[in-house]
Amino acid sequence: MRKADLELTEDQIDRVASMFSVDPVTVRRMTFTHIPQSSRRLIAGEPRQLCSSCLRIVDRSRIILRSQLLGWRITCPLCGGRLQTISGRDRSSPFGGYHHAALIGEGMLKDEAERGIQN
Ligand SMILES: [Zn+2]
Repeated sequence: MRKADLELTEDQIDRVASMFSVDPVTVRRMTFTHIPQSSRRLIAGEPRQLCSSCLRIVDRSRIILRSQLLGWRITCPLCGGRLQTISGRDRSSPFGGYHHAALIGEGMLKDEAERGIQN
């Protein structure tokens, strides 16, 4: 799955899209193939964080949201809530007063990774 997340070719994307009767754009959005190599070091191989408000369980398994793998995310893209570490060891941060600046940083890293906008 990790390899599919990062290295699908256009032909493979088309085939996956055909298999699931979805648009290739949908498949691309579900993977990280469009993210440049320089930003991929911030993509985890397994979920590192979660949003307790958007947590979904299907057949006794947690649904893994894309945002749970993205190291630059500090907020949930669905509800805007603050993401928590999976280990549950969230502690109060000495940088809590810089939350607004952290949100700006989150946006800058997202822009670079997902839109190629250099900061
Ligand atoms: Zn959420």
